[in-house]
Amino acid sequence: MSLLSVSGITKRFGGITANRDISFEVEAGELIGIIGPNGSGKSTLFEVISGFYHPDAGVVRLDGSALTGLSPDHVCRRGIARTFQKLRPFAGLTVVDNVMVGALTRTRDVRHARARARELLDRVGLVEKADAYARTLSTGQRKRLELARALATEPRVLLLDEVTGGVDQRSIPGLVQLVRDLHRGGLTLLVVEHNMRVITAVAQRIVALYLGEKIADGAPDVVTRDRRVVEAYLGQAYVQ
Ligand code: ADP
Ligand code: MG
Repeated sequence: MSLLSVSGITKRFGGITANRDISFEVEAGELIGIIGPNGSGKSTLFEVISGFYHPDAGVVRLDGSALTGLSPDHVCRRGIARTFQKLRPFAGLTVVDNVMVGALTRTRDVRHARARARELLDRVGLVEKADAYARTLSTGQRKRLELARALATEPRVLLLDEVTGGVDQRSIPGLVQLVRDLHRGGLTLLVVEHNMRVITAVAQRIVALYLGEKIADGAPDVVTRDRRVVEAYLGQAYVQ
């Protein structure tokens, strides 16, 4: 049985079908890249998997048990964490307190949560900013904060929505290395990412979406040469 199963997910907003009958399986320890042009339904799929949206049809299962109807905090307790494409840290809280919000989903002991938060800030390379207010961070630092906050909930599956999006070029290799290290540590990841160099460097498998539908699913070298993917998204650079 796969760790995460996405089965027949459809999500509509009025006349727009943001996700249409999307299915795929995720094995424990996999790192899957999700690609597709803007508006293809990537973020909506993450909202559905993490319980922020309830699908109109289909079911998401973690370890065989359905997450249907669970609230985001219950989905999080089951072991699915996500970062947001539009960053939303608690701007008026310090960096360490932001991460503690995540840690407190697993412990009621504030001292323990604080220690865990510092440990994770160290892991993401942000510990020297622990006592700064979140609003003072750069975009790259906020991405690291989001990662630490998500990790503090002790996920089994981590969903990353455009982790290098809007980040200056120099910060990208460090973020990519961080994602690699998490994967190497055994975490299962779904990564939405526009930077194809990043995706092909980290992903074992790619799922491509277009107009709300899954149009390809497979090894990166196969998917990036798939004619429909090239036409929908990648452009001629990838055609051999
Ligand atoms: P992506 O992340 O791939 O850019 P999204 O999942 O954000 O795509 O959006 C998919 C489609 O669903 C788009 O047409 C978008 O306008 C629409 N959509 C997403 N969220 C909402 C919402 N909350 N209300 C209405 N339409 C939405
Ligand atoms: Mg998006």
